[in-house]
Amino acid sequence: MGLLEQVFEAGVVGAGGAGFPTHKKLTQVDLLIVNAAECEPLLASDRYVMRTFPDQIIDAVVQIRETFGIPRVVIGTKRHYAAEVKALQDAIGQRGGGIELFLLDSFYPAGDEQVLIYEITGQTVPPGGIPLQVGIVVVNVTTALNIHRATQGKPVTRHYVTVTGEVAQPCLVDAPIGATAADLIAAAGGATVEPYAIVRGGPMMGRRHGQAEVAGLGYGKADGGLIVLPADHPLIQFSQKPIEHVINQAKSICIQCSLCTDMCPRYLIGHQMRPHRVMRSVATGQGAPDLLDALLCCECGICEMYACPMGLSPRRMNIYVKGMLRSQGVGVQDKTVHPEQTRERDYRHIAQQRLIDRWELDGYPTHLDQVVTCEPDHVRLALRHGVGKPSAPRVAVGDKVAVGDVVAGVDFSEAGCLVHASIGGVVTSVDDGWIDVAAATGAGRTS
Ligand code: SF4
Ligand code: SF4
Repeated sequence: MGLLEQVFEAGVVGAGGAGFPTHKKLTQVDLLIVNAAECEPLLASDRYVMRTFPDQIIDAVVQIRETFGIPRVVIGTKRHYAAEVKALQDAIGQRGGGIELFLLDSFYPAGDEQVLIYEITGQTVPPGGIPLQVGIVVVNVTTALNIHRATQGKPVTRHYVTVTGEVAQPCLVDAPIGATAADLIAAAGGATVEPYAIVRGGPMMGRRHGQAEVAGLGYGKADGGLIVLPADHPLIQFSQKPIEHVINQAKSICIQCSLCTDMCPRYLIGHQMRPHRVMRSVATGQGAPDLLDALLCCECGICEMYACPMGLSPRRMNIYVKGMLRSQGVGVQDKTVHPEQTRERDYRHIAQQRLIDRWELDGYPTHLDQVVTCEPDHVRLALRHGVGKPSAPRVAVGDKVAVGDVVAGVDFSEAGCLVHASIGGVVTSVDDGWIDVAAATGAGRTS
């Protein structure tokens, strides 16, 4: 079986958040970049993987390089990740000659795929395009570990999730795919506040969920972070504005200062992503062409969580406008790159620590070492994985499954993935969003 087939059979998708199926991504290119620049404040799972599995990561990278004849491989990580850099350097020295390490400052969003490409190569991926258009493939570092495991015949059935914030024991949880947010919180000693809400992912880009949702929220292959916060924490409250409120604010108090645009990382690599114009266009009812900028937004949150002096929500506006345009079948039209916009970018990097301070996250650890194993008695396996095609169920209620059995999937030719049972047990529910499996023993365990 070739590498792509092994990766497909193991159900590997991008672990960095997008969830794109990896077997549809790997190909012959000029440059392979490994994204090891974990940049969301408080998240520490990729760093743990780098410290703990450097040999496996480098083995995977070497295998990709040799399979596709890729002439250049660069691992992009942070300069201040000293232990991780050392681990990778040692592994490269032993088994991965010729692999470069590119060390970044600690800014957000250094781990944005297109920002990382710009940092390493000075190239801008065309607006609305993908790295392949400039001869580059980017693979997240945890995805690289999963590729290594795929070559050993091991499917993606577990992952490491950073569980932090208002929990008794912030830690990395080694959990089966599909463990619920409630199980992950329990593994970290339980929540220490009531009522609470969670951020699923990092504080900048993660989705917010209320306490009532955590029991039904299965963590998927691309989910690496869970932050518990008081329900009235500013980070939670800010995201709960109804879209009507966001629009009314744009109409009434947007001062068109354009700071949101000046600080936008996509604008600063040369894309015509000008959130102030989107705000103005919605406020005045002008529509296109300015509205079309919203299609270029990567939803990093800089504009609304850092730049805007009025506390407005250009990102929320972009998400709203993007949804509207896509429902009308409107795609990116102007794919011109504007190199003149990149001149100021070196002066507009935002230190991760400033985001931590601004959003009152400074009481929570930024480095985690302790790993807790979570063995729940029930998992919810997601059938949707980010931008990939949803997986079709291949089991029915009452079927018995063992760890590693395929329970849902797509064909190899499709941009989706196989889903494997992550615990042994009985299928208790199947719908178009989830497959629920209950452990055969019925006894969950956290150690
Ligand atoms: S930074 Fe805020 S106030 Fe200024 S243009 Fe952007 S949305 Fe409007
Ligand atoms: S969220 Fe804001 S800062 Fe980030 S890409 Fe979108 S418009 Fe730019």
